[in-house]
This record gives sequence, structure tokens and C-alpha cells, in this order.
Amino acid sequence: MEVYKFGGASVKNAEAVKNFLNVLKLQAKSPNVVVVSAMDKTTNALEAVVNCYFIDRKSVKSLLQDVRKFHSTILIDLFEDDKHPIYHIIGSFFEGASRFLDTNKSNNYNFVYDQIVGVGELASTSIISHFLNDHGIENEWLDARELIKTDDVYRSASLNLNETQNNINRAINLGKIYITQGFIGSDSNNFTTTLGREGSDYSAAIFGYCINASAVTVWKDVPGILNADPKVFDKAQLIPQMSYNEAIEQAYYGATVIHPKTLQPLYQKEIPLFVKSFQNPNEPGTAILKDKNMADHICCYMILEHQTLITLSTLDFSYIMEKQFIKIAGLLDSYHMKVRLTQNSAISLSVCFSDPFNYKERLLQDLRANYKLTIQENVKLYTITNPKTDHPPFISSITGILMKQFTEKRLQFVTTA
Ligand code: ASP
Ligand code: MG
Repeated sequence: MEVYKFGGASVKNAEAVKNFLNVLKLQAKSPNVVVVSAMDKTTNALEAVVNCYFIDRKSVKSLLQDVRKFHSTILIDLFEDDKHPIYHIIGSFFEGASRFLDTNKSNNYNFVYDQIVGVGELASTSIISHFLNDHGIENEWLDARELIKTDDVYRSASLNLNETQNNINRAINLGKIYITQGFIGSDSNNFTTTLGREGSDYSAAIFGYCINASAVTVWKDVPGILNADPKVFDKAQLIPQMSYNEAIEQAYYGATVIHPKTLQPLYQKEIPLFVKSFQNPNEPGTAILKDKNMADHICCYMILEHQTLITLSTLDFSYIMEKQFIKIAGLLDSYHMKVRLTQNSAISLSVCFSDPFNYKERLLQDLRANYKLTIQENVKLYTITNPKTDHPPFISSITGILMKQFTEKRLQFVTTA
């Protein structure tokens, strides 16, 4: 049993959906579960709808209408018969979203967000499922909200593995093809939850884990995993094979090809992860496997932007001790900060983190109550794994280094952007 995941770029328009069909037809063996993201930049557009809802309610409907029109254009290209049931299905997702916004009483941004953005995935997967059924690939559409159960931390939900496993066992049978959504799940009250932006890779890994897949393949608009962002480093190389360890570090420190949470469930069951190009589906891409150390010698360059670097010291010149570490870590966690690098000395602790939920001001206020604080906004974190001595020129041209760490496996520095 195999799981495939297709991202937004692979279904960005009608042409791309036709290519999707071809990629599936080219495979010697059919996948069992196909996880699909929202089409193109739909999630961003729906995010804008939610933002608008909290700022300027009058404009919400027209923004939502634009997203609906984008899907309608694709429908017209893919389904000639305007009586095809898909037209009604897509209409009802958007009408449902509109009705929700009309009747919603909650001021919780994250809750409203999760009830709206998932429409992108529901629409894309319905289109794909019908299109494949019409073109010889028989499949069943599954609503991931009925399978993936989570807590109610909206926009960053955590999986309830037991319930999810039971639901998937019940819903999925051998030998059939299922099309379902990435990114979304539901809480115990059946409200929609999301797993974090770009979370569809993680959804694919959850399905892979629960069905004991023999492999998970993520189809991308890049040839596989490269050792650097080709926009920054023109000699970026494809990595043919890498270990889970190497891949998890890459995802954590900034390579955007794989969502950081994806590797953990796969690692637990040693399920290989393939990253392949949907434009060149016969190319091998990258294979992520257990204990394949060959790629661990490849030097990889990652950059994380929009980080904040804070340095804390005590108000009375006393040591920063383990007790304070616990309190500081607790605060960082409660505001959902993503910490990527820390360094301590006798009287100071420096932390480099990003702030996906915009809680930084509240965090800083809490910290100021007990610590002296220096803050550097909008810094960059560079990570070089398996560092060599002869770095490419873009590394030596970096200036404004604020913090540095060097181990045998990893060179990292934080710089002014
Ligand atoms: N559509 C969601 C996003 O763009 C989830 C995903 O694509 O992985 O973040
Ligand atoms: Mg996406």
C-alpha cells in the first residue's frame, strides 16, 4: 500500500489536473491513498478572507467569491457538462463557508480560520476525485475531517493517534484508491482543525503510518531535495538518498521541501519517503530511508528568515540558572514560539525563534517583568550541515553575525537580515 501527496502547485490549474491524471496513469502500481492540497495559492486567498472578516466585514463576500470563481474557471475546463454533479458540490462548499461567516459568533481568529481555510482542500480533492473517476481511475473521496482527529488547538492542532488509527482502519480497504485532503482534521466536537501551513505532507505521513504503507511519495515542482535553495545558491545539487536524521534537520532548519512534522511518523515505522517531480515523474528524485548515511556527508545550506533573537539576563547580575531556563521555555511554549537556536553564558541566555501566531509582544512583556532584554528583530538563521572548509562565496559574503555555533555536524549563525 502506498500513499501519494500532491501539493498546491501540482493542481494549480486545469492543465495541472490533467498532468496529475497522467502521473497516476504512468505508475506501474496504483497508490492506495492520495492526499491533495488546495489548488495553487487558495490557502493564502482564504487566509485573506479570514483576515478581512476581522477587519472589514463588507469586503469578505467579494474575496470569497473570487476564490469560488477561480475554482469555477478550472471546473469549466475540466467538466464540459455543466450538469455534472461537481458543480453543485463545489458550490455547496463555498455556500457553507459563506453561511458560517454570516452566522458565526466566535471572535477566536484561529477557530474561524480553521473553519474557512479547509474549503480549499475540500474543493480541490472533490475536483480531482471526479476528474479521475471520469477518466478511468476509479476512486473514492474521503473527508479527512472524519478520519484525522485532533485536539482543539486551532491552526496548530495535535493528532489524536488512537482515534485516527481506528477511523482509518474502518474507512480504508486494500486494493482501492482513496482521494482525501491534507492539512485538515477535526476536534472532538467535529469542528475543523488544521495541522499548520504546508501540513499536507504531515497528513500524508499520518495516513502512511496508519495504513502501514510501504512508501509515501510527495510529488513536487522540484526534482527532489536539493542541498540548498537554488534561488540563493546556483550550484545546488540534488540529493539522491538521505537518512531520516538528515532530512529532519533539513526540514527543521529551513528547507521548505518537506514539512518538519512529516518524518517522525515515517521514521517510527521505517516507511521510505520519496520526493519526486510531478513534471518529470520518471526521474528518481530523492529517497529518504533509514540509516542511509551516504548523504550525511553532503554539505547542505539552509536559511530561515524572519527570526527574532533575544538575549535575556537577570536584573540583579545573578547567574541565569536551570530554574530560569524552565520558566523561559514555558513562556516560549505557551506563546507557540518556534525556537531554533539557543546559547547560554553565566549571566545570559540567547534564543532565536520565529513567531507564527504573532504573540511576540505578549511574550516580551512577560519576559521584561523578570529579565533585562535585548531584541533583534527580523534576523536570519543560517545552518550548514556537514560543513566543509571551502564554502561557496555566498557564505563568506555574509556579514552582521550576531551569534555563532560550530559543531562537527553543523555550523550555524544568526545574522542581521
Ligand atoms: N494548503 C495548505 C497550505 O498551503 C496545506 C498544504 O499545502 O500543505 O498551507
Ligand atoms: Mg500548499
